[in-house]
Amino acid sequence: MSPPPPPPPQARLLLDSAALIANWQDFARAVGGAACCAAIKADGYGLGARETLVRLAAVGCRHFYVAHWQEVPPLLPLPDGIILSVLHGVTADELPAALALPARPVLVTAAQVALWRQTGRPCEAMVDSGMNRLGLAPAETADVLAGMEVAVLHSHLACADDPAHPLNEAQRACFAEVTARVPAGAFALANSAGIALGPAFHLDLVRPGIGLFGGGLMPDGRVSRTVGRMQARIIQLRDVPAGGSVGYAAAFVASRPSRIATVALGYADGYARGLSGVAWASAAGVRCSAAGRVSMDLAAFDVTDAPALAEGDWLDIPFDPETAASLSGRTSYELLVALGQRFERVWA
Ligand SMILES: *Cc1c(COP(=O)(O)O)cnc(C)c1O
Repeated sequence: MSPPPPPPPQARLLLDSAALIANWQDFARAVGGAACCAAIKADGYGLGARETLVRLAAVGCRHFYVAHWQEVPPLLPLPDGIILSVLHGVTADELPAALALPARPVLVTAAQVALWRQTGRPCEAMVDSGMNRLGLAPAETADVLAGMEVAVLHSHLACADDPAHPLNEAQRACFAEVTARVPAGAFALANSAGIALGPAFHLDLVRPGIGLFGGGLMPDGRVSRTVGRMQARIIQLRDVPAGGSVGYAAAFVASRPSRIATVALGYADGYARGLSGVAWASAAGVRCSAAGRVSMDLAAFDVTDAPALAEGDWLDIPFDPETAASLSGRTSYELLVALGQRFERVWA
């Protein structure tokens, strides 16, 4: 017997390859001769790591970063010549899996360096230049890494999205002292926002993430191009009289006789609850405001002004990450990585 057909999805993410590629190319241009890599952790910031890797590899991105070893197998096989690195380094219990995978660790502690040293394989390493998160202490880095083949020596900025913050220059100067003493194939400091801080922060290699996927500002100060657009299907339309309420806590009360569309999209899909009452959908160019609370699997929109809509139709749900962030009080990072698995991700 053939397996039953898969149920069709009721919500979609329409993903724009051209926007993704243009965002990466903007970063690559901004850093001139430095290698422009891509951070594709958390499933490519929720949009799809494998799809991102394939598209960016095709336009010249050679080097990709994930956070965990678990993120490596879904990216295989790697296209020819592509390097994949794991930002959290490697622990003893991860070592057998790590040795069997075509990726290398960014070692973050002296214990990790000692562990990896026994393998004789090349590595990358992270120096903590002032974020106090992950990485080797600047003073210990030369000794800890002595004799290791370090392909890339990294550090990471804590405040890059605040160009005036004094920690940016303090971290740059701290890392410069380390790079003067510690041999490595390349040195890297900048994430997306770090690239905008200028050439002094570019060094040999940059690691943009959010800006590839539609969040944050590009080096020229424009907002990143939106890569993912949402659509959700109308499950039910209903007419609500003036004074009638919609959804949990009766948070929306109709001020006029209203037509309400309930769509298959909720906070379980990453459509943040903070968008309740402040977001909107669009139907054939008509703006339809959110009606009441976003619930786990459903959201409602006032479609009174789009009378041609029928049950089963799709609504466009704007979700450009920075607008959704300011409406919901969350960050574009949180919103993107929370995009759920029930979406059909359709790349064009
Ligand atoms: C996530 C991450 C990046 C990418 O940062 P964005 O702000 O998304 O550009 C770069 N470097 C490291 C070490 C990271 O963890």
